[in-house]
Amino acid sequence: MSEKRTEISQLGEFGLIDRISKTVDIKNASTIKGIGDDAAVIDMGEKYLLVSTDQLIEGIHFDLSYMPVKHLGYKSVIVSVSDIAAMNGIPRQVTVNIAISNRFSVEAIDAFYEGVHAACKNYKVDLVGGDTTASPSGLFISITILGVVDKKKIAYRSGAGDKDIICVTGDLGGAYMGLQILEREKQVFLTNPEMQPKLEGFDYIVQRQLKPEARTDIIYELQDTGLVPTSMIDISDGLASDLMHICKQSGLGARIFEDKIPIDQLTYETAIKFKINPVTCALNGGEEYELLFTIKQKNLKKVEMHPDIHMIGYMDKKEKKPVMVTKQDQIIRLKAQGWDHFTNK
Ligand code: ADP
Ligand code: MG
Repeated sequence: MSEKRTEISQLGEFGLIDRISKTVDIKNASTIKGIGDDAAVIDMGEKYLLVSTDQLIEGIHFDLSYMPVKHLGYKSVIVSVSDIAAMNGIPRQVTVNIAISNRFSVEAIDAFYEGVHAACKNYKVDLVGGDTTASPSGLFISITILGVVDKKKIAYRSGAGDKDIICVTGDLGGAYMGLQILEREKQVFLTNPEMQPKLEGFDYIVQRQLKPEARTDIIYELQDTGLVPTSMIDISDGLASDLMHICKQSGLGARIFEDKIPIDQLTYETAIKFKINPVTCALNGGEEYELLFTIKQKNLKKVEMHPDIHMIGYMDKKEKKPVMVTKQDQIIRLKAQGWDHFTNK
């Protein structure tokens, strides 16, 4: 008798997470939100505790041929800080697990922790524990972060309302183009090890890839203005994919405008040089760690003058899924990866 075997690729990452989440049975009243948002939400009495965990695997999430270990330590922490920010929360503590092969020296691990400490200092987070083990090959990192949020200020992916304005911080597509530059220089180096990498002039986008920051600054500013987003997510998989999460969980469509999507000049020019559509980069490039959130229209005044918050569209119950209005006034359905033209609209 042959047992049924389904390939993971048939489900994909999100399908697999959905499948796991269906097997979960919540037993504690203090578990306010389990699987399905940027962090789990736990009732601690006066406030909510936020918990999020992330893994970074060598060869999947980073390549040490161009990622300095110190930067890797920094990035490992900010990836988690970003998930707490995405709940409108303030990060407090992290634990760091590492699995290391004998390829790594004590000095390399020192450098990794220099990066971890630098991020902890910048984001006022305490490193409070972890686990250290050997790995057969490669470096595995896993970070768990704890944060807090006032109960009235929490922002889930699911809270967006019809006609709420969609906002995004910073600019998009830079981390992806930075990666293209680093990959290109790696290939040049592999063919000719005498060549030095040419990164001059690409500083901003390379930095977006190697040393991204989390937008806790925006969380503090929102708190100062008293504005609570109706929904929020951090952009780790790309604007299109992350907007899709907000739409799906809020049960709404969305309409965004191509000419409102913030793209930095260097990202734009580099994309053109690489014959990539800059808007595709901005929609599908991951690892930005910017915040995507929605606000009620009546709160527009509180953000509209902010130099680093961009209003890119609105939630729309008339659309079932997110769509983008192009500069030519065409309506394009956004997909998690790329997009297709509407044929009958
Ligand atoms: P993010 O990109 O913000 O880190 P993910 O897409 O990784 O979020 O995860 C989405 C949700 O699924 C989160 O609530 C996360 O905790 C949960 N999740 C992911 N993998 C697993 C798993 N193996 N078991 C249980 N929950 C998981
Ligand atoms: Mg996230």
